[in-house]
Amino acid sequence: MASIQEFDLPARWTSLLQDTFSEAIHNIARMWPEEQSLKVSYRIIEGYDPEFAQDILANPEHHFRAANQALQQFLLDAGEGNKVPFLRIEHLPSDQVRTVSQLRADDIGMMIAVDAVTTKISGVRPRLYMAVFECAACGHTMEINQPNEQELIEPLECSQIDGGCGRPKRQTRFMLQQHLSQLINSQFIELQELPEQVKGGIQPERIICIGEQDLAGQLNPGDRVKANGVLFIRSQRKGGKDTPVFDIFLRIHSLERQNVPLEEIIITEEEENEIKEIARQDNVYDVLTASIAPSIFGLQRIKESLMLQLFGGEAQLNEDGTRNRGDIHILLMGDPGVAKSQLLSYMSTISPRGRFTSGQSASAAGLTAAAVQDATADGRWTLEAGALVLADLGLAAIDEFDKMNAGDRSSMHEAMEQQKISISKAGINASLRTRCAILAAANPKEGRFQPVSDVPFTSQINLAPPLVSRFDVIWLMTDDADEKKDAQIASHIVNTRLKGSSELLVNEGSMPDPTKNQKGKKATRNAGGGYDILPKEVLRKYVAYAKRTVRPKLNDDARKAVVDFYVQTRKSGGEATDSVAITARALEGLSRLAEASARIRLDEDVNLEDAQRAIRLTKTWRFELMGENFDETSVHSGKKTAARNQERTIHDIVSTLQNQSGTYATLIDVLNDAERSGISRAKAEDIIEKMCRDGRMMRPSGYQTLQLV
Ligand code: ADP
Ligand code: MG
Repeated sequence: MASIQEFDLPARWTSLLQDTFSEAIHNIARMWPEEQSLKVSYRIIEGYDPEFAQDILANPEHHFRAANQALQQFLLDAGEGNKVPFLRIEHLPSDQVRTVSQLRADDIGMMIAVDAVTTKISGVRPRLYMAVFECAACGHTMEINQPNEQELIEPLECSQIDGGCGRPKRQTRFMLQQHLSQLINSQFIELQELPEQVKGGIQPERIICIGEQDLAGQLNPGDRVKANGVLFIRSQRKGGKDTPVFDIFLRIHSLERQNVPLEEIIITEEEENEIKEIARQDNVYDVLTASIAPSIFGLQRIKESLMLQLFGGEAQLNEDGTRNRGDIHILLMGDPGVAKSQLLSYMSTISPRGRFTSGQSASAAGLTAAAVQDATADGRWTLEAGALVLADLGLAAIDEFDKMNAGDRSSMHEAMEQQKISISKAGINASLRTRCAILAAANPKEGRFQPVSDVPFTSQINLAPPLVSRFDVIWLMTDDADEKKDAQIASHIVNTRLKGSSELLVNEGSMPDPTKNQKGKKATRNAGGGYDILPKEVLRKYVAYAKRTVRPKLNDDARKAVVDFYVQTRKSGGEATDSVAITARALEGLSRLAEASARIRLDEDVNLEDAQRAIRLTKTWRFELMGENFDETSVHSGKKTAARNQERTIHDIVSTLQNQSGTYATLIDVLNDAERSGISRAKAEDIIEKMCRDGRMMRPSGYQTLQLV
């Protein structure tokens, strides 16, 4: 196909704009400066003149220049002087769409579209767009377009055609007339491949882009976009000289944002029907629980909570402008080697927008975000998104949560509760969204967890109690020796290893890849036509579909069950004034869990059973964490409540015994009763010793006798 002559372009653009967009152009003139660009769908141009449209893809720079000039002329004709409008073409044909890692030399100079997530933005700075020079010899002025921010293009001679003196550069000087020149805003933007596009564990690739004028300052780190633009190269410089190695950049021409959440996950009608069918199965909860890390043995309750976390509750906006998050945060505290990391890593692969990261993450952005000076952006300050920002609307699995750096620690509260991070540094102000569920794992400070009856868990981990209290569910995973369980886990692990395929042989190609079967689109059905375990892909689409379409709300029964549980638990908290068995925060957690449970059935009506599932799970984790006398105050304050409870128990025992005898209690009776209440003899003796020392108890007639003071 012969390319269209460049000198034809302005006229052709003028007639195209006149025929099709004159009303839109009037709008720009009216709305200026809120609207500075004319958005034109490629499909419209294609309908108008297919050959012309094709030519845009092949020679975009020529077209942009002609189109912008034509547009500017329209505004001038309408009496709108000195404006720099841009024509922005969007909705490119699908064969122009690439991922970052697909960009190749062939694409350079062509108009393409890149689907990606924004990872970094620099500050917005002005640059010369059209420079006016004055000839020092004759005073004639010339306009020179400045296509890029790398070098200033000066006139070669004082142009005679439009009235200059004709002197070449070396016989005169050209002085930049800044007040007559036009400046536009420019910004460096780094885009990264979407996790969905990355093949098998390779680092996602990134590309530096330049956004200009109304495109500058539009994106925040974490935003998903389709960036349409032109690839160009620049040679890398070393010691002030160009080298033969090039860097690729994308000059962004137009941006398209996602309008549906999780749009990147494409669900066909067939898949949608399959999802609905799975959701209708009676045993859907069992199937889903079993589908979470099948190679990990046991941990049923934990997996059940992780299943609810995947689906999550619904964020609510209140009339007063506040917001309650819907995402469920879960903390796994446990001894080393209980499969915490394995669970985290699995969850990050099945959740849409899942990210796996470690608290000790090496990247400067860490978990939240950071402002750094960046050489690839000409040394400008840039704002880089951390894992939570990139996992927006998904799930962030954070291993070694207790080892995160001080910067992350301070912004984590806001990131977890308000689900945003506000940053203001070096001229960049941004509020980044972190609407993701957090699944965190933490190890004990001292190698292994002590029984929580001796040392409260909050003092066994390196996390501040206020941070711990942001989690809706906290599991304590101890590595206790239990012969039956140990034998089961052992044979499970050994069998898993036997069933696995050698990675080396798989990579060599001499053995089939076992994960390949997983990638098959369809879930395999069992003999009865139902499903036992869902493949990762199906599960991920299921979650995306449910999050996208189901907006669960508690019905009256569910609400009553949750409130009853709350009131009952508070009552059981006992008389001690400084201890609260449950706080209002837990109420929200319960509602979120119940909502997630309904969402799994694709049901917007959160019923009694959903509430009961949430209550049962909540009871279980609270019991495993702190035993019968759950005291939420200790989660919040980190005080040694277990010890305080034990003191109260001993106090009560002595009181009862001395009332019975009318004089005093004997040590041996107290120790026996204490043992029945779950306090060991040694522990009870320590507590009695301490209470006597503190003067709350005394030994009226010898060591064996006890009386309250
Ligand atoms: P953690 O992060 O808690 O220290 P890891 O996730 O690194 O533990 O697990 C250590 C190893 O033990 C892993 O290979 C894991 O598969 C195995 N493992 C531990 N518990 C189980 C279990 N219940 N079922 C199967 N494998 C397990
Ligand atoms: Mg680990």
